[in-house]
Amino acid sequence: MLSQMRQFVERTVIGDSVPRLARAGKSAPPALIRRMQEDAFRHTVRYAARHQKFFARKLKEAGIAAEVVRRPEDLGDIFTTPEDLLSHPPEDFLCREPQAVFETTGTGGEPKRVYFDHQELELAGRYEAAALWENGVRPEDRVVCAFDAGYWISSWVTFFACRAIGAFCSAVGKPAPREVYSRLGLYRYNVIVADPTWLVSLSEIAEKEGTVPVKLILAAGDRMTAAYRRYIQDVWKAPVILGYGSTEMGGGSGMECRERQGYHLDEFNFLFEILEPDAEGYGELVVTTLARRVMPLVRYRVRDVARFIPEPCACGVTLRRLSPIKGRRDEMVVMGAGNLHPAIFENLMHEVEGISPNWQVAVRQDGLHDVLEFRMELTDGIEASRVEQAVRQKIESRYPEMWANHTCGMYRLAFRFHRPGALPQGRKAKRLVDERGA
Ligand SMILES: [Zn+2]
Repeated sequence: MLSQMRQFVERTVIGDSVPRLARAGKSAPPALIRRMQEDAFRHTVRYAARHQKFFARKLKEAGIAAEVVRRPEDLGDIFTTPEDLLSHPPEDFLCREPQAVFETTGTGGEPKRVYFDHQELELAGRYEAAALWENGVRPEDRVVCAFDAGYWISSWVTFFACRAIGAFCSAVGKPAPREVYSRLGLYRYNVIVADPTWLVSLSEIAEKEGTVPVKLILAAGDRMTAAYRRYIQDVWKAPVILGYGSTEMGGGSGMECRERQGYHLDEFNFLFEILEPDAEGYGELVVTTLARRVMPLVRYRVRDVARFIPEPCACGVTLRRLSPIKGRRDEMVVMGAGNLHPAIFENLMHEVEGISPNWQVAVRQDGLHDVLEFRMELTDGIEASRVEQAVRQKIESRYPEMWANHTCGMYRLAFRFHRPGALPQGRKAKRLVDERGA
């Protein structure tokens, strides 16, 4: 059950109205949001202590009574990790009978499974609806959502969001971009929701063959580079707004506004922490679900590295913002070149001509030296030496510190070229791998 304060606000102030919910997110004073969050956090902890085997065991091991927990830090070292979800049976996390399950795969191996009931999915949809409303989506709009379906959650939540707004919605899974392109005019879609690389492909078709009037493009923020975003916006003459979320978070947990300077977080349904922040405030994001009762997650280690943006946003929304994700904590590699995140190489490689999208960067050890090895598939018959030169130049111009570490001998660069199709591919193929000690 939601906390009483939350229920009171939702019932009396908001009701079923998406515009009113959007206004609540825009105008709720931060102090009130904090109080609601603390109240909901206490409820969640007590509920999980009573109903969730995993969390009850953790509390017992740490000798903490649920009743004394008021804030996340009162839980000390108690967290829920992605590894916990993988290594325990679902029964250890389930607090009541589920009505739906979704999966999320990491970079290999078993998927993590997260369970919900219908009400929770609809609630997630309502909050996504409020964010879409804030970005201008209205009942007369027509939305096509090309998020991958299968066991993924996002297309369902977007469908529920459109239902809450009352907007036309085709949640069609992830067909080839041409299939959606050929129907844009027929169904008069003016809002497109999809993944970044899929949007790039759709935009390439539209650039050659013509566009239709589009009001808004919403993309999952994962892997959207500044260059992709610029290109897509130029083709469609429409803003590209990014959302942030995951299956564990039940779809979205934050969305940009028109300012496009960080994700406004859904602080009504989640309590966010940044763990062990560095000098700039960057640390691992930790999330507690505040409204879920089938499988609540207490202090879930998201493994994404980001920071809060404390300044108020120019758009006027009072919900706190999260910076763009700097990288995955478990994908960060510390080596002679510095602290490397895959995003660094995403930024570098999309500008290199003559290679396929399936590149990979590996950190190896050669004797006493770290080696940063670029593995690429040559296309277009370009000479390997030219590609190598382009990569070196881009490191030098884009990441001068990383280049400085190279020139003073802290690591070596290596280049390996393959035929197309030889390197790992797919949505979650690892871009940056650490092979030292392997
Ligand atoms: Zn804003």
